[in-house]
Amino acid sequence: MINNFAYVKAGSLAEAVKALSTKGAYLHAGGTDLLGCARNELFAVEKVVSISNLKQLKGISAQPDGGVKIGALTTIADIAASVPIKAKYAVLAQAAAAVASPQLREQGTIGGNICQRPRCWYFRSDIQCLKKGGPRCYAYNGENQYHAILGGGPCFFVHPSDTAVALVALQAQLAITGPAGSKTVQMENFFTDPKKNVSKENVLLPGEIVTEVRLPVVSATTKSSYRKVAGRGSWDFALTSVAVMLQLEGGNVRTARIVLGGVAPYPYRVAEAEKLLAGKKLDGTVAAAVANAAVAGAVPLRDNAYKVEMVKGAIEESLAALA
Ligand SMILES: Cc1cc2nc3c(=O)[nH]c(=O)nc-3n(C[C@H](O)[C@H](O)[C@H](O)COP(=O)(O)OP(=O)(O)OC[C@H]3O[C@@H](n4cnc5c(N)ncnc54)[C@H](O)[C@@H]3O)c2cc1C
Repeated sequence: MINNFAYVKAGSLAEAVKALSTKGAYLHAGGTDLLGCARNELFAVEKVVSISNLKQLKGISAQPDGGVKIGALTTIADIAASVPIKAKYAVLAQAAAAVASPQLREQGTIGGNICQRPRCWYFRSDIQCLKKGGPRCYAYNGENQYHAILGGGPCFFVHPSDTAVALVALQAQLAITGPAGSKTVQMENFFTDPKKNVSKENVLLPGEIVTEVRLPVVSATTKSSYRKVAGRGSWDFALTSVAVMLQLEGGNVRTARIVLGGVAPYPYRVAEAEKLLAGKKLDGTVAAAVANAAVAGAVPLRDNAYKVEMVKGAIEESLAALA
């Protein structure tokens, strides 16, 4: 059941920020996650503030410095189909193409995709779990086959967005506007650790809106990919995903970024594993060492140890495909 709520269609960014300043007000982009949360009564929605009229937040454009700007209201389908994104930022185009179903990609936006709430079945039910102010994370000793093996605790949900994992690998930045003005945040610093704040997933303050995603310039010798493992081919969240960015030099890897999805409460960068690639030629031995290092800190729960092997396999396959 959804409670009655007020509906505001903002005519400007300033109007949206102002409308969001009251208690119980929630931003609506494509609505594919927000309305599900409202229906499940995860939080009390008193006002829905739609930004769908704000044309300046839509579209993909090349920037003078060679980077690319993506408006927060750009649909996931448009990102997956964009020729410049496919050519220069393959990891993002592939992640966008891996999101949900065609209908959800047409309706869902990049801003909404990275700000969507977790899919943990305890959180999405009427159980008062830790994340909703209750006494404990019920996944810890409960049904935890889809939960975190890395970075978990005290809450063990996994971050749900495919595009966010790619954007962390890409070192993207987010432009944010709110009651205190505008700022930029590195994608890598956007998501929060449940150890610091269990009730929220990102650093957005009340009334703040992500307005655009900024992709940095990438050199012609960069190769990237996104590999997702899910229970079904469509309409399914990642059991594991791997975003890889490699900077190559003379046939060897100069630098690497590897970020995991579906295994931790935030996109999980495996910096120690990345270091093993520096200066190396990509082959099976190196890939196996990188895969082992990536899961060295894994602490599986009762029912999700399978994810350890799945991460290793996904990393080795990704590196083999890029070699
Ligand atoms: C059946 C199903 C399967 C799915 N499978 C996948 C999947 O495989 N991979 C995946 O990544 N996702 C998946 N999703 C999630 C889906 O991609 C998201 O619902 C969608 O991307 C959200 O975008 P939206 O524009 O509809 O966001 P909304 O529903 O409008 O918003 C989502 C949340 O983000 C906030 N928000 C939205 N835009 C902004 C902004 N610009 N600034 C600040 N806050 C904002 C809203 O307030 C709300 O809390 C699935 C969803 C469903 C229902």
